[in-house]
Amino acid sequence: MHIRLKKGREGFFDNRHLWIFSGAIDSFPDGFENGNIYPVVSFEGKKLGFAYFNKNVSLSGRVVSFGDNCPYKAIKDHLKNAFFLRRSLFSLEKTNAFRLVNGEGDFLPGLVIDYYAGYLVLQSNTLGIDLLKEEIIACLREEKEVIAIFEKSTGQSRKEEGLEDSIGVLYGEDKEQIVIMENGVLFQVDWRKGQKTGFFLDQREMRKKVGELSFSKRVLNLFSYTGGFSIYAKKGGATKVTSLDISSSATKLAEENMRLNGFNPDDETFLSLDAFTFLDEKPLDYDLVILDPPAFAKKKGDIERASKGYRQINKQALLKMPRNSFLLTCSCSYYIGDDLFLKILFQAAKLANRNVQIIGKHIQAACHPVSLFHPESHYLKSFLLRLL
Ligand code: SAH
Repeated sequence: MHIRLKKGREGFFDNRHLWIFSGAIDSFPDGFENGNIYPVVSFEGKKLGFAYFNKNVSLSGRVVSFGDNCPYKAIKDHLKNAFFLRRSLFSLEKTNAFRLVNGEGDFLPGLVIDYYAGYLVLQSNTLGIDLLKEEIIACLREEKEVIAIFEKSTGQSRKEEGLEDSIGVLYGEDKEQIVIMENGVLFQVDWRKGQKTGFFLDQREMRKKVGELSFSKRVLNLFSYTGGFSIYAKKGGATKVTSLDISSSATKLAEENMRLNGFNPDDETFLSLDAFTFLDEKPLDYDLVILDPPAFAKKKGDIERASKGYRQINKQALLKMPRNSFLLTCSCSYYIGDDLFLKILFQAAKLANRNVQIIGKHIQAACHPVSLFHPESHYLKSFLLRLL
């Protein structure tokens, strides 16, 4: 009962990469069932490891353990290791929200878990993880920090796997609004109604940077969601903060988050508008602008259209912002690589005829680790620019 790879296709196991594409598979065993874990062998019969499979997608297999290692024990070990890393990264009195499991980056392919002040929001992206949910929940319940576990399994990857969305309480009592603390800043998280699992934890480190840079500055936060960068800017001493997001429920929560941190939202500006139109039509008299849009490229075929979008918003900012101002510009599209994003910024600066210095570069926060053997988990890139 094993999956046999085609001749000469086992190299990625040596490289500890975690994905098995359908083109590398020679044969499935009789009675094969989608979602289950099977041993994987080379064409010659050498044991390579264990993976779960779904024949219906081209990314058919995801490796859960190498060699003879028991896959179920490996999953438990990786979950424990994931906790261990976060315990050494964060002191819960100051930051009690982080990504606890970052899929392939934590050697747990297809599984994402965010930790919000003791409440876990689990996102299963594959049939394989759906079938492992009981084991995963049992393991998570052993950890003293866990109060409840919710599931918010939605998104494109599930659709491709032929799965319905799955949203609900897996363990413990439901809780609609969770208050989290990040670097001493408070936020309300609505895991059910909010985007993704409720909060964008990947920008924590850049938010801190923005806080440090904001003193006595006029700040514009575009694509502001629930006000992450805005509250840090205000705490850092910004004179006035403008937050803009197309989603009115997000800007409403941004106002509440401002109040939660002791600031009067009436003193700031919150706009529910399209950022493209705003950039085209309005002057940009701000000392610091943040551009943190959603992923414009969700698949390879989107690269050209997405590049155009990034070029457009960055060009407008570079054209209109005053001398000696700062622009934090980000892309969370995996398909727009670091080099391409830099090229887009170069093109935007050229079109805007603007001299620009790079004064900072960043990737996703440390609770989003990337396995050195599996670079596909790296998606977020940010550049802090100074405009002359
Ligand atoms: N910077 C935020 C996360 C941004 S996520 C944080 O630190 O939490 C991207 C946001 O862009 C989402 O809130 C989404 O509602 C918003 N968005 C998407 N398209 C938009 C558009 N055309 N104009 C303005 N906002 C948009």
